[in-house]
Amino acid sequence: MSIRRRTRQREAILAALRDAPGPLSAARIREAAEREAPGLGRATVYRALRALREEGLVSVVELPGEEPLYESSGRGEHHHFRCRTCGRVLDLPGVLFGVPEGTLLPGGHRVEECSLLLGGSCGDCLSGGGRTTGRAG
Ligand SMILES: [Zn+2]
Repeated sequence: MSIRRRTRQREAILAALRDAPGPLSAARIREAAEREAPGLGRATVYRALRALREEGLVSVVELPGEEPLYESSGRGEHHHFRCRTCGRVLDLPGVLFGVPEGTLLPGGHRVEECSLLLGGSCGDCLSGGGRTTGRAG
């Protein structure tokens, strides 16, 4: 594969993650990136995601009951919202509640990270504009 083609695939994957309203599964990334880089294969997407993670450009979001999701790094601290209707996982960038880093908890535990997952119905689904095709891959 030419370097140029590989660069284009990387750019397409990064753009898909940048434009997404929340973290995406590898399948969704492939779907979105394929518009820019037609013929993008599954293995290529995984390989690119691994490389982008090693470079610190992409991070993995592990949520209970979900396959690994990916998001671009540097989105700042944010929590996630999972819609029970359409299955999308969305970023909540402005929602800053949680336990601040460095907080000492009873028992002497120090908080070093805090990630919350909220669930419910997303705005699109509530307003009738959501996708009703079931859980997104
Ligand atoms: Zn929804």
